[in-house]
Amino acid sequence: MKLIFLGPPGAGKGTIADLAVEKLGLPHISTGDLFRAAVKNGTPLGLKVKDIMAAGGLVPDELTIALVKERLAEKDAAKGWVLDGFPRTIPQAEALEGIASADSAVNFDVADGIVVGRLSGRRVCRSCGKIYHVKNMPPRKEGVCDVDGGELYIRDDDKEAAIKVRLETYRKQTAPLIDWYDKKGKLLTIDGVGAPAEVLGRFEKAIKK
Ligand code: AMP
Repeated sequence: MKLIFLGPPGAGKGTIADLAVEKLGLPHISTGDLFRAAVKNGTPLGLKVKDIMAAGGLVPDELTIALVKERLAEKDAAKGWVLDGFPRTIPQAEALEGIASADSAVNFDVADGIVVGRLSGRRVCRSCGKIYHVKNMPPRKEGVCDVDGGELYIRDDDKEAAIKVRLETYRKQTAPLIDWYDKKGKLLTIDGVGAPAEVLGRFEKAIKK
């Protein structure tokens, strides 16, 4: 199964993708995670994208498409995947069609007010990338990852100024993909509001159909 997760930043794509891939046995491919790893490791790609990401902008299409193409060519991606955070523009969606066509695009529908609260409370493990929320999904011990004891940090782009830019960018460049996939008959929209287990249940129902 090849799935795309669509929705605004803070819609819960990463959280639900983490839970879904465990059950589906597919790789969770997050372009945001791949870019963050590149930044952390100080690779040439990381140096190019660091400032763009911190400001909440989009990495240029050609860099993003090349990264995804390389990742989808890896062995584990042959059985399918959950693509989280890609495509984010129409040219990216067109390029993906040329690499591997997705079966469905799952759109997580969440209102702006909720998204801002989710992003500003989000904490991420510096070593394994697990996502928490100070109120909705707190770790057992404040500031420490339940899985590997890693330090929890606030992403640069989860700070207020960057959140604003990301939401605007989403509306302008990414939201048109909802129509794009709908016209292809591939769109599944689910209500993204609620606890992760609840949203996961809705997702499972939607993909069974
Ligand atoms: P995310 O973790 O999906 O919120 O992505 C974090 C940041 O990585 C985004 O705000 C962009 O700067 C960059 N990024 C991730 N995916 C893409 C993409 N498909 N196209 C362009 N930039 C991206």
